[in-house]
Amino acid sequence: MIGSAAQLFLTVPRLNRIPWLIHGFGTRHWKLSDFRKRAGWENFKIIWLKQVHTERVHFIEAAPTRRLQGDALATNRPRIFLIMKTADCLPVFLVDRSKGVVAAVHCGWRGTRRGILEHVVDGLRVRYGCRPASLLAGMGPCIAASCYEVGDDVRDEYRASGLAQNVFRPIGGRPGKYLFDLREANRRQLIGAGLDARNVLDVPLCTRCDTHLHSYRRDRDTSARLYNFIGMKPIETS
Ligand SMILES: [Zn+2]
Repeated sequence: MIGSAAQLFLTVPRLNRIPWLIHGFGTRHWKLSDFRKRAGWENFKIIWLKQVHTERVHFIEAAPTRRLQGDALATNRPRIFLIMKTADCLPVFLVDRSKGVVAAVHCGWRGTRRGILEHVVDGLRVRYGCRPASLLAGMGPCIAASCYEVGDDVRDEYRASGLAQNVFRPIGGRPGKYLFDLREANRRQLIGAGLDARNVLDVPLCTRCDTHLHSYRRDRDTSARLYNFIGMKPIETS
């Protein structure tokens, strides 16, 4: 996207072909107030979480009566936008075309280590009867491995949790420092949870490199968050 005209949000072509689905990975040009400006989106309820780097999933079937904490949202109801805020972490959408179910997931290194995507896929199976092999996944922009330096502490936590170590690449001449591939770690988790690799789709941009995106690593405390959203239009019957 670098150098191109400013886009408000990015989409996955295969998800765009689902007529009742609305989704987008927001750029820094997409604001919360923009949801109300789109024709047909005005009466969608907007749901977001206090995101806390856990594996906690909330199933939204009615308007929540309190502020929810967690890192994943799922629904089988139309006219609801599930929002995940990110700035370097990976946003992931899940879609079940046959059941009419969507989910939005916030995957940082901590949530990934806790197996958040496995929890979500399992939750969709139990709650809504979704078959993992039928799910489509859309992975949005996140910090790329080449830009994401981590220390021994992160790698040690992954090792202690029994997770694959080859998503960490040692940095030459800097003992105890690694480049961490957050996207790949989550892709493996989806496939491990039963998704077909051909159904795991990507918007493979780096938040730190692309100045149309917010990056915590680039901008630190001045960084804002990107608004990623997914929801369903009501099925029209005539
Ligand atoms: Zn980068």
